[in-house]
Amino acid sequence: MRWSKTHIPTLKEDPQEAEIPSHRLMLRAGLIRRLGGGLYTFLPLGLKALRNVERIVREEMDRAGAIEVLMPALQPREIWEQSGRYELLSNVMFRIRDRQDRDLVLGPTHEEIITDLVAREINSYRQLPKTFYQIQTKFRDEIRPRFGLMRAKEFSMKDAYSFNTSPEDLETSYQAMYQAYVRIFERCGLRTKAVEADSGAMGGSSSHEFMVLADAGEDGIVECDACAYAANLERAERRAVAPADETPDRQPEPIATPGHKTIEDVARFLKAKPTDLIKTLIYTANGQPIAVLVPGDRDLNEHKLARLLPGQTLAMADDAQIEKATGAPVGFAGPVGLSLPIYADVSLQGRRRVITGANRADTHLQGVDLTRDVTFTAFADLAICREGDGCPRCAGTLHEKRGIEVGHVFKLGTKYSECFKATYLDPNGKEQVMIMGCYGIGVTRTLQAVIEQSHDAQGIIWPASIAPYQIAILPLNVSHAESLKTAESLMTTLEAQGFSVILDDRDERPGFKFKDADLLGFPLRVVVSERSLAAGQVEIKRRGVDEKVMVSCAEAAQKIVELLK
Ligand code: ATP
Ligand code: MG
Repeated sequence: MRWSKTHIPTLKEDPQEAEIPSHRLMLRAGLIRRLGGGLYTFLPLGLKALRNVERIVREEMDRAGAIEVLMPALQPREIWEQSGRYELLSNVMFRIRDRQDRDLVLGPTHEEIITDLVAREINSYRQLPKTFYQIQTKFRDEIRPRFGLMRAKEFSMKDAYSFNTSPEDLETSYQAMYQAYVRIFERCGLRTKAVEADSGAMGGSSSHEFMVLADAGEDGIVECDACAYAANLERAERRAVAPADETPDRQPEPIATPGHKTIEDVARFLKAKPTDLIKTLIYTANGQPIAVLVPGDRDLNEHKLARLLPGQTLAMADDAQIEKATGAPVGFAGPVGLSLPIYADVSLQGRRRVITGANRADTHLQGVDLTRDVTFTAFADLAICREGDGCPRCAGTLHEKRGIEVGHVFKLGTKYSECFKATYLDPNGKEQVMIMGCYGIGVTRTLQAVIEQSHDAQGIIWPASIAPYQIAILPLNVSHAESLKTAESLMTTLEAQGFSVILDDRDERPGFKFKDADLLGFPLRVVVSERSLAAGQVEIKRRGVDEKVMVSCAEAAQKIVELLK
């Protein structure tokens, strides 16, 4: 392809709208353009790279035995009402109405659609297991679309759904997808880390997210420095530690703390450490107030609380509910004398000298012995993990990292198959409910994550597998007939062997062409100059590597093929 025959609008300046390197580079290299918040046009080279990611995803899905389908993005409201997600997902769902006043949804995901389909199409154990997938546009009304393709309102996802006959059968499908994901990200040149993810009420480690470690990542994760344990912060557990030996006071002592409500405030006022204090949070579970206690220097992990109380609707209590439940204004809640179910983080078990709210305005209690003064409903790991916590699996230490979630594999169970009556007849002619898994890859997010992980000050460094063009040929002087002829013949030879080649035929200064080639990150650059041709040679350089090699024109194609392997 000749440069002049396509459209590569590179930018010299960093665009204002971009906050992270990959977003900046996608705009500067002329891969995408913004239409509106979270909405992007793919320009020719961006689209070529995207198609390459899709091709890898498709090949690996097919290899893993998944079957490609394509479902509509536009979906009737009723199917979403059947699963209850018309309400549940109302904050991310784009809703529209047709001319006959029928409500429709722009699909944010496809569990409902595929399960309804399978319920109609499959009815015997002989047709199972099956995994269906599609590569399709999803729509989500994200509160904060940002970072370009990373969090968009319209984006491409590969979503797959497996239909299985037993937990073991599901495990097999799950592992097949997991392994396919490992291969997909490897082939895209991405280093990813599979972390245990929150799987809601399902429990266990039946969900993994594939994370690209990057400062720009929106997800917090922890990683053990001694074993393979890694988890999303939403999910991450920590090793319990025995409480320090504390000498109890004879009884809790009320102490005036006028206007001091936050942990930091109270700690400063009482000259105590935040760890000496207890945070008492009031929630409602199915509308009834409960108290949840965590150490003063820690935050509650709501996902853990949700797992402790499966099936219950949890919400933070509002001011009125807190006052009613504790008899005190907000900021002075404490567990002593509180007649509510009380749940506490496991690290509080055995603490014998702590400071809590007194359930009285402007008052705290000192010298509270949790083993003596409070009756707990249950202790559990409820706090959010952080840097330095002990690994729950070994004696190692957890370290905090940021990650970009590019993929997610998830054991769904029977939630949707029950709802859509996706059943089959087993060998005994008995009706059984299918067990499901779902597996997503953010295709457009993956593309950008590659750039986030692989770039330098000059621009993108594409892996050859997804580069829009694998080879850039730069005739430095396009009015020199022999240069152009050599460049063209090399391009023809390489294209005939299946390589993608761009020939920079612009009448521009060499420095300008070099800059653009670096910015665009083509894996191999071939320079054809009058000087090199005088010696019958061209110069080959790999992107991201300083070394240049001179080869004879006759051997150039062969050398390039070697280098690309
Ligand atoms: P996130 O927590 O980042 O919002 P999610 O849990 O909502 O992701 P899933 O519903 O599991 O994501 O979707 C599967 C994949 O789709 C994700 O792993 C991610 O790579 C991608 N994805 C999700 N939301 C977006 C978005 N707004 N823009 C681009 N890609 C997205
Ligand atoms: Mg989301």
